[in-house]
Amino acid sequence: QKSDIKAPEKFALKETRIVTRNIGVIDPRNIDEYIARDGYFALSKALKMTPEEVIKEIKDSGLRGRGGAGFPTGLKWEFTAKTKADQKYIVCNADEGEPGTFKDRLIMEGDPHSVIEAMIIAGYAVGATKGYIYIRGEYYNSVENLKKAIKDAYEYGFLGEDILGSGFNFDLTVRLGAGAYVCGEETALLESIEGKSGRPRLKPPYPPQSGLFGKPTVINNVETLANVPQIILNGAQWFRSIGTPNSPGTKVFCLVGDVNRRGMVELPMGVTVREVLYGFGGGVKGGRELKMVQTGGLAGTFIGPDKLDVPLDYDSMKNYGVSLGSGVILAIDDSHCVVDIALNTMEFFRHESCGKCTPCREGTRLACEILEKMTKFEATMDDLKYLEQIAILSADASFCGLGQSINVPLLSLINNFKEEFIQHIKDKYCKVGLCKEEKKE
Ligand code: NAD
Repeated sequence: QKSDIKAPEKFALKETRIVTRNIGVIDPRNIDEYIARDGYFALSKALKMTPEEVIKEIKDSGLRGRGGAGFPTGLKWEFTAKTKADQKYIVCNADEGEPGTFKDRLIMEGDPHSVIEAMIIAGYAVGATKGYIYIRGEYYNSVENLKKAIKDAYEYGFLGEDILGSGFNFDLTVRLGAGAYVCGEETALLESIEGKSGRPRLKPPYPPQSGLFGKPTVINNVETLANVPQIILNGAQWFRSIGTPNSPGTKVFCLVGDVNRRGMVELPMGVTVREVLYGFGGGVKGGRELKMVQTGGLAGTFIGPDKLDVPLDYDSMKNYGVSLGSGVILAIDDSHCVVDIALNTMEFFRHESCGKCTPCREGTRLACEILEKMTKFEATMDDLKYLEQIAILSADASFCGLGQSINVPLLSLINNFKEEFIQHIKDKYCKVGLCKEEKKE
């Protein structure tokens, strides 16, 4: 079936750069170039405000967590500020592990000081004097640039004691992750910083009450933090003038898959999938038909071409069943098999499941077994029913976000492309010819 999608003018989309404003413009290893673009001016301004005023500005801006969940940042800061303790922490979640997502890497590589400046501001706002950046160990260039930036920030008096003569102290350390997807889950991440095996904790208590070493902790994603200096400098109302009322600001999207131009693009919240795909991506590669798009990362929703005009923001899941997540847009052309995609997705989750809880550990394994049977045309209609039940059970009963999210890709694939699953079961047929019956001796 041919779709009637028309490609708008190639690469017609205009970017709105807040968190990517310095990327490719300044030398990230030169602190003076960051300062020349208003760098550390927001810190200087924040230190002249009261901590309550800083939190109010972030709350009023409506900034929400860009790691994927969209929790209000100002509220997180306020909870942490209000919890009494002798020590508090700011943690930057830079363990970007969502397949297809590389925005945080490019922000840290291209503008490391923006993240550092934001963490110092957050520390001042909530009364934390120590920060950790927990970063994927494979992000070599980001690690190098961050370490250089931290060293320079200490030399310039932006980190350390009595920052800019304010009497406020803040120290910052980089900690490397070792490649486990689950360590991006915030409580597993905290365990890992504490030197333990990276396994999630039960929530609540949430980190603002009991976080790193049991102390009140703000954990923010890289992209979330990179917005903070610009909000402090330009004000909450400026930020609210971009994006949608419930999801102000921009989102950095990572466009991957079968498109003419892949890459990262920062656009106002509320942009449609079609605009990113065609206006930035230049349409489907090789003139093929678009079969589906996965939005929000591997734990996100698979949608058909009928949903390309959904505006992407934190309400798109609730309103249209389309996730925003970490901002991945994965284009999939008509050469791919739905069952094979489902298997590929579940294999990732099976591999990354930490094994702590049964629904996730066993659910992902069983889902893979059923999907493997489907690719060999050996599955029954009961298997398809079990697959749906596994997805629901894992979502309801898993311990952390990893197992809780497998229902989203799995059920969106089954619901939107059921016919193709049934073809594999009843007709023993794969319309793209990827799945083959195994020869039995
Ligand atoms: P969550 O909804 O449990 O929590 C989101 C944030 O809000 C957390 O920091 C949590 O502590 C905070 N929070 C929630 N309720 C709170 C409360 N009552 N008080 C204080 N704080 C509260 O979601 P999650 O499991 O942390 O994250 C799920 C998201 O992660 C998904 O949307 C997914 O897209 C995303 N994700 C991103 C990546 C990536 O690489 N960026 C990888 C995997 C998953």
